[in-house]
Amino acid sequence: MKSAWRGAIVRVLFGFFACLFFGMLSEKTFLLLFLYTLGLLCYQLYELYRFHNWIRRSGRSLPPDSTGIWGDVFDAVNRLQKKQRKSKKRMQQALARIEESTSALSDGVIMADNTGRLEWWNHAAGDLLGLVKPVDRGQALTNIVRTPEFFRYFSQKRFGDSLIIQSPAKEGSYLEFQTTLYSKNDHLIFVRDVTRLHLLEQMRKDFVANASHELKTPLTVIKGYLETLDMFKESLPERMQKGVHNMSTQSNRMELLIEDLLLLSRLESNQRADSDQWHNVSDLIQVICDAAKVFKNSEHYLTWDADEESAIYGSYSELYSAFSNLVVNALKYSPGGGEIDISWQVNQDGGVFRVQDNGLGIDPRFIPRLTERFFRVDKGRGSDTAGTGLGLSIVKHVLHHHDSKLEINSQLGFGSTFSCHFPRSRVQHPTLPEVVLIDKDAS
Ligand code: ADP
Repeated sequence: MKSAWRGAIVRVLFGFFACLFFGMLSEKTFLLLFLYTLGLLCYQLYELYRFHNWIRRSGRSLPPDSTGIWGDVFDAVNRLQKKQRKSKKRMQQALARIEESTSALSDGVIMADNTGRLEWWNHAAGDLLGLVKPVDRGQALTNIVRTPEFFRYFSQKRFGDSLIIQSPAKEGSYLEFQTTLYSKNDHLIFVRDVTRLHLLEQMRKDFVANASHELKTPLTVIKGYLETLDMFKESLPERMQKGVHNMSTQSNRMELLIEDLLLLSRLESNQRADSDQWHNVSDLIQVICDAAKVFKNSEHYLTWDADEESAIYGSYSELYSAFSNLVVNALKYSPGGGEIDISWQVNQDGGVFRVQDNGLGIDPRFIPRLTERFFRVDKGRGSDTAGTGLGLSIVKHVLHHHDSKLEINSQLGFGSTFSCHFPRSRVQHPTLPEVVLIDKDAS
């Protein structure tokens, strides 16, 4: 390249001095220099014209023959274009391979922009959701999957958990949606047919609900006879008295277990005992504490603090159940004389119901498992109170129904704090702006 420039400069200077020399000899310096400059300009224009012509045909043909700097320019551009064509081809091949492999996936893959409009999807997604190319390209996904659950999941960006709903394209099928945001909040959505799993899960729930329900009648009969025996216990031999007492304790425990299982089944199948309404939090806590005081004959110091003007939006029976489970747990797992502090606090993010005790505490490694069904940290511990291991599972489900979260902090031997965080939309307080409720099921 350097030599081409050197040659060109030498040629121009040689021409210039030659014109100057002959111009001085013939006394027509200016004319000769003018003609020389014009010639140079015409030559450059001609080469530029050839370059423009070649490049306009996207440089597919061979470059025009040329020497000097222009020859070098033609060669360099030609090389660059060849390289570009090669990498474009490679990228197209890679893209085709990715498309081929995602098309072969049995799970659906959908790409939607940040507003949720469909950009691309594979065959499986097309089959699962009944999408048609190119008609549905650019359509909002919420216009295609028109269920309130999906609308809530997608518009409120609840992508932490997957969502299982009935397929909009095939009756009786269930689809699981898993969404990830990428790049500029664009959506990458995986869709899976989970009909078989869903039916199995449904069978399990039905079995637990039916079995619990069926157990209720025989248990009531057994409890009735035990109560009769208890009435005449004086006439029974001492060993029998002890047996009757044990049987009564166990049947009470069984009754609790069945009630908890039935409640859990109802919560899991989204059957609401009562509709969501505004409830005064202070009144609710007062009722729970009055009931709790009877428990363990009030060996504990129970204090509570809740603003009388604060209200919470939800199902009364579910909230009662969740809050009282936490309070009863604090009593159960604190030795006599323990201090239990119940509070309700409102802030700009919502409301927090908190139960704090200075009881046994929990080993941190067990905390993630506490809300599992039947999980008990130490089956021997607190056996006098004989819990079911379902309490915190119920709390978790109730909070899920109320778009809320459970936070557990505990230190073994120093007590525990259970906090239920409710969103702003479910909390009312004179210091907070009025909440506009959206009828979610209608959306
Ligand atoms: P349970 O009926 O056994 O109380 P839960 O689901 O309510 O079942 O609680 C699960 C386990 O969590 C309990 O068995 C207990 O070991 C532990 N736990 C719950 N609350 C407390 C608490 N306040 N202090 C210490 N341990 C607790």
